[in-house]
Amino acid sequence: MLGAVEIIVAKHMGFCGGVKRAVDMAAGAATNAQGPVFTWGPLIHNPQVVDRLESGGVRVAETLEELNGESFVVSAYGVEHDVLDAARSRGMRIVDATCPVVIRAHSLAFKLVEEGYQLIVVGDHGHPEMVTLKEVLGERVTIVHTRDEAAQVKLRGRIAVMSQTTQSQENFRQIVGDLSLRIKELRVVNTLCPAITVRQEEAEKLVDEVDALVIIGGHHSSNTTRLAEIGRTHALPTYHVEVAEELDSAWFAGVRTVGVMSGASTPEWIIAEIIDRLKEIGEARAAPQ
Ligand code: SF4
Repeated sequence: MLGAVEIIVAKHMGFCGGVKRAVDMAAGAATNAQGPVFTWGPLIHNPQVVDRLESGGVRVAETLEELNGESFVVSAYGVEHDVLDAARSRGMRIVDATCPVVIRAHSLAFKLVEEGYQLIVVGDHGHPEMVTLKEVLGERVTIVHTRDEAAQVKLRGRIAVMSQTTQSQENFRQIVGDLSLRIKELRVVNTLCPAITVRQEEAEKLVDEVDALVIIGGHHSSNTTRLAEIGRTHALPTYHVEVAEELDSAWFAGVRTVGVMSGASTPEWIIAEIIDRLKEIGEARAAPQ
């Protein structure tokens, strides 16, 4: 108990293995570089980490014209072919930080298509992991994000379904359930990343133990947003914050227990700052008026 607010910090916090690897590879490339090091867009969905990398020499290219330097770091979720081709054609050294979990999921997708399955993948249409998969498999893969979209897919022959590595477990489960009722046989390949599912499962348990939930991570981070969705689905006051300054003490009026979780691209230093701020809020509330 700290002040008048008990803080329960989730067991699985901070960078997942794939994000840590990508950040370390980018920082390492900049340390050893003789010229500019680039990523395509932000390396991960955490602006504060991207800023730190930038001050260490890792620049973010937003256009193909900007992408010109010594090295190019491919993000954990891969990159589109035209971007990779542009970097190669300019003689840039390629530092491939694609997460092994994503590589494995893509390999399974190619194998299923080669085996003649009509492949459906539950994912976010604009996510790099889905964009790169679609780029290679074209019409041989159908990406669906919602149950409604999945219901529109015409099923022919043998059907296989898999998931973007960072999808919501619940969304995948529902779409698989719907598809299985429409055909006699469905091949389900679970490609959800264990680093993500373990956090979603922890969130499902934590919502029963706390009065409010603070989810720490980039506002554009899909896996962080999904953790917040779990809290909101359970009608729990849930606050998705990127930095400590966003915390408002008014949110915790009457709250006795607050749960703290983070997305897979949230660094330890931001988590520590947010926990310190929550302790201050609790102590201020406990102090005699
Ligand atoms: S969440 Fe999983 S798939 Fe994504 S980078 Fe981390 S370890 Fe890799």
